[in-house]
Amino acid sequence: ARPDTGVDPAQVHALLQRERQRYEDTHPHSRALAGRAAEHLMFGVPLHWMNDWGTPFPLQVAHAQGAQLTDVDGHTLVDFCLGDTGAMFGHSPAPVAAALQHQAAAGLTTMLANEDGAVVARLLAERLGLPQWQFAMTATDANRFVLRWLRAATGRPVLLVFNGCYHGTVDDVFVDLIAGQPVQRPSLLGQVHDLLPTTRVVEFNDLTALEAALAPGDVACVLAEPVMTNIGMVLPQPGFWEAAQAIIRRHGTLLVMDETHTLSSGPGGYARAHGIAADAVVVGKALGGGMPCAAYGFTADLAARAQAAKRAAPPGHSGIGTTLTANLLAMAAMRATLEQLLRPEVFAPMHARAAALADGLRALFQRHGLPWCVTQVGARTEFQFCAQPPHNGTAAGAAMDAELEHALHLYLLNRGVLITPFHNMMLVCPDTTDADLTRLLQAMDGALQELRR
Ligand code: PMP
Repeated sequence: ARPDTGVDPAQVHALLQRERQRYEDTHPHSRALAGRAAEHLMFGVPLHWMNDWGTPFPLQVAHAQGAQLTDVDGHTLVDFCLGDTGAMFGHSPAPVAAALQHQAAAGLTTMLANEDGAVVARLLAERLGLPQWQFAMTATDANRFVLRWLRAATGRPVLLVFNGCYHGTVDDVFVDLIAGQPVQRPSLLGQVHDLLPTTRVVEFNDLTALEAALAPGDVACVLAEPVMTNIGMVLPQPGFWEAAQAIIRRHGTLLVMDETHTLSSGPGGYARAHGIAADAVVVGKALGGGMPCAAYGFTADLAARAQAAKRAAPPGHSGIGTTLTANLLAMAAMRATLEQLLRPEVFAPMHARAAALADGLRALFQRHGLPWCVTQVGARTEFQFCAQPPHNGTAAGAAMDAELEHALHLYLLNRGVLITPFHNMMLVCPDTTDADLTRLLQAMDGALQELRR
């Protein structure tokens, strides 16, 4: 069922058709390149869900710099997607580009430690507030490895997640609450394991359900974003995390904060800024300024338990780590990001512009009489097709409308503005200008005028 978005679905459909045609007319080089690519690229793209942007054929990038990217037809787009946070500090940020250039001639990968490792871990400890660190290539892997460590350290098998979460392609988290019942996500390909015995799921902001789910005493950890950011945005209600932490501790369960997206709240992430004391924190995506890398930190107590679990295990494969993890290039990228970008003075203008964008969107939706809400957390701003910010994953999911989303995103793209696909997120980077915000707001105004005709 489509939500009541305040706009006529027939108008949405008509706008989408017009914008699809406009895209086809104005992107001949993308079309030609996509055609050639399809000869040997399965699905015509390097990663199958690159097709899910909603464009008639995949947009082909020529280059990207700062807050802008240019496609092969010569269109320059203001980028508010920023690789869904991988490029949160802008495309090819200068300090990272310089560090990569230097390291590129001094060894790329060795499977050995170097000085950068110690420096990066110290900076992570300073910023995120946890003393012990390990690395991974992606936030997905970091989450996967954390789950292993925590199940091993606690001897407990069960993971608890919040309904509608996303933590990368970590199989364990893909259990949904459908009409109050846990259901393994049917879209998962090739999943032969029954996830239900070892994954428990409750709604975000539901303390009663959390208490009940932890009561059996078999839950190793709660894996959560401090703010849900992948099903639209869902904010914690006042007091939620304070009470949730007390419940989690009382049941001997560990708390893992996945700050992959909420790192946009500042150099220490959202949890630290809001007094959430996690046992483990995961960071990825922007941590290497766009280079693939991720990290996870443990408290001293958890680190001791994890190390004891490793010592107690027979020698052999731990199931943790990949060959290129913590390679020299990745370490150089993280060091440059931490030293020069993950700093309060870099975030301050990002946050100010994100707030201005959120205000501008609210004013626009009000002027058009649309019952859409706007939520801003750090440098991220999200709009959702419901009047009140949703309080859990079910409500957030119910406010989604794929056709309206595609029509709006394509209208914006055709006018030089890129926002994040699959929901309505706009990220501000250090290079985003006031003129970029104006461009987005004016394009959005144009789309809404057409929809309200
Ligand atoms: N955690 C969160 C909260 C995410 O949003 C994502 C990706 N969107 C990931 C982990 C996984 O990141 P990656 O795809 O880089 O592994």
